[in-house]
Amino acid sequence: LAQLYGPLNQLGYIYRSVNQSLVDTEKLLALLNEPTDINDKPDAPDLVVAEGEIEFQDVTFTYDGRTTALNGVSFKVPKGSSVALVGESGSGKSTILRLLYRFYDLKDGEGRIVIDGQDIRDVTQKSLRQAIGVVPQDPVLFNSSIAYNIGYGKFDASREEVEEAARSAQMHDRILTFPEGYDTKVGERGVRLSGGEKQRVAIARTLLKNPPILLLDEATSALDTSTEKDIQKALQNLVKGRSSLSIAHRLSTIANADLILVLKDGQIIEQGSHSELLALDGVFASMWADQISSTDGVSIAGDSLKKE
Ligand code: ATP
Repeated sequence: LAQLYGPLNQLGYIYRSVNQSLVDTEKLLALLNEPTDINDKPDAPDLVVAEGEIEFQDVTFTYDGRTTALNGVSFKVPKGSSVALVGESGSGKSTILRLLYRFYDLKDGEGRIVIDGQDIRDVTQKSLRQAIGVVPQDPVLFNSSIAYNIGYGKFDASREEVEEAARSAQMHDRILTFPEGYDTKVGERGVRLSGGEKQRVAIARTLLKNPPILLLDEATSALDTSTEKDIQKALQNLVKGRSSLSIAHRLSTIANADLILVLKDGQIIEQGSHSELLALDGVFASMWADQISSTDGVSIAGDSLKKE
């Protein structure tokens, strides 16, 4: 029995890790009520990521067969570059992330999503999801130590690796202020972390997972200036060298994105770098003008768009 206990216990741990990471992902993608009935094709190969280049090719998608969530969306995320999605609520930002994570499959004739030349419908879901790191808006913490909460990004992470990830995620110094450092319990029954701190824990987890592709959902709520700075620094460390797609609610955070896509009613209505979009003097420029004229310097992208 004792011989069985070790492996069984480990299996339980793996099960919990898998289960917990799904909880996180589901939360980000607001999928708790959405069934996922995507099946791999028989003998589907694993995704092979060489460059991490993502391409949406004329993607059209409907959830219910009546309203169009995405309508002819095409764009490319070149190797290692950052693409930011902005637009009012319901414009299709989350749908783009959900489709890339393959919670739904596109039907024939409704476009393709391709990573390094492979249609994501043709590869295993497991390999796809292994290649993608997700930083949700409101990460879930477990009632366990802060080290465990960071370490489950990588099953066999050593304490040194956990600390290194926490340093890159700008959380190390904060953790040292906890009564038992990395062994301090966090979550509901331990030290309660702020939204910004939880997001940095999620960034540390993702640094450990080390995926070539990232999906980021920026927090909607305003953060104080120093927290904002820490998160920006942590995100810079995370996105470096990876292909990333992020939903931006606050325009201040995406000035450095390689490409900004402005969505409306499931279509890309403007695209370019921050300066190109300002020069265009269209929807993005008016959103930006709204933001800098707002007294607190923080504006929700969706709200600004509605003011048009
Ligand atoms: P937000 O900023 O509010 O998160 P969004 O830009 O991410 O909005 P999506 O969630 O992608 O927008 O929604 C795009 C469209 O698809 C909207 O019209 C929305 O009502 C619809 N939609 C989203 N999820 C579902 C669903 N599960 N079932 C049916 N329609 C949906």
